[in-house]
Amino acid sequence: MTKRVVLIGHPVAHSLSGAMQQAAFDSLGIDATYELWDRPPIELADAVAELRSDEFLGANVTIPHKERVVPLVDRLTEEAHATGAVNTITREGRRLVGHNTDVLGFKVALDRLVGKQKMPRQAVILGAGGGARAVVYGLITEGFQRIIVFNRHLHRAESMVKHFARSAAHMELRAMPWHESIIEAELARARILVNATSIGLTSDESPISADTLNPELLVLDLIYARTRLLTDAAAAGCTVADGGQMLLHQGAAAFTLWTGQPAPLELMQERLAEARAGGLRSAEGEPAGDAGTTAAAGAAGAAD
Ligand code: NDP
Repeated sequence: MTKRVVLIGHPVAHSLSGAMQQAAFDSLGIDATYELWDRPPIELADAVAELRSDEFLGANVTIPHKERVVPLVDRLTEEAHATGAVNTITREGRRLVGHNTDVLGFKVALDRLVGKQKMPRQAVILGAGGGARAVVYGLITEGFQRIIVFNRHLHRAESMVKHFARSAAHMELRAMPWHESIIEAELARARILVNATSIGLTSDESPISADTLNPELLVLDLIYARTRLLTDAAAAGCTVADGGQMLLHQGAAAFTLWTGQPAPLELMQERLAEARAGGLRSAEGEPAGDAGTTAAAGAAGAAD
């Protein structure tokens, strides 16, 4: 029987994850299909319940469901429990297990961004959604000592900080109101800036003005594209990277969880690049690319 893996999100049209996961199944001779399920929040519980049947290997979960899926599965791995967000589901018989492979994906992206330098200890995060939760947990477990979170709706950043109170008991994790002057002051004290908002996804906008950036910063945008933020940061002399490595490595980890086999990383990376060049949108929703922006992001945009 052909097995099924689904991506549950809203919207999910033309996912980049589909291109890389299907190619990986095919290349290893695994009889499985990767399907896109566009499900609004009201249909989420039914969609997750369907996964209990034998025909499914599991699922990916994306915007806007990563946090909502948590109470719908039977068991959470340490990362999923700690972040309060699930991006991958596997099946143990009829029981569902929630994982968070975004944490691992983020850590690979962070390591590449930092390169041979000493790992910094201070970071500023923009955003407080499911992606930001993986980032904050990744930084805490990496040994960061000071993490400041800015979010449009301050209460969401505050509840995220509260969620991490225990894991962050030994360090400073704070939510601050989104004011340009406060962001600039915090950026002057930090080495890492991560954009985990979706600003820049569908428009040529940056979450912050170019003047707030200083050349000492290492800037990671989770969006898999050459965003306005990355262009401004590169012009200011910062080291920059887009979300490509995170997307690839969270996907590779999910593949291994579903199949028990090592992921064909090179092939998956090639398929991601091709899909992006062809103008497809990601499971994570990055804007349609074109050959020009792909080349720019791949060469100048990424730190690796
Ligand atoms: P969520 O929907 O959970 O969160 C969205 C975040 O963006 C919130 O902090 C929200 O703020 C903020 N935001 C959205 N629109 C605006 C706006 N107009 N002005 C200010 N803030 C805004 O999404 P995720 O956390 O899952 O994803 C966030 C981004 O990270 C996406 O672009 C996604 O593509 C990317 N991502 C990439 C991954 C990768 O593998 N490369 C993995 C995960 C995410 P508020 O709470 O105030 O609404």
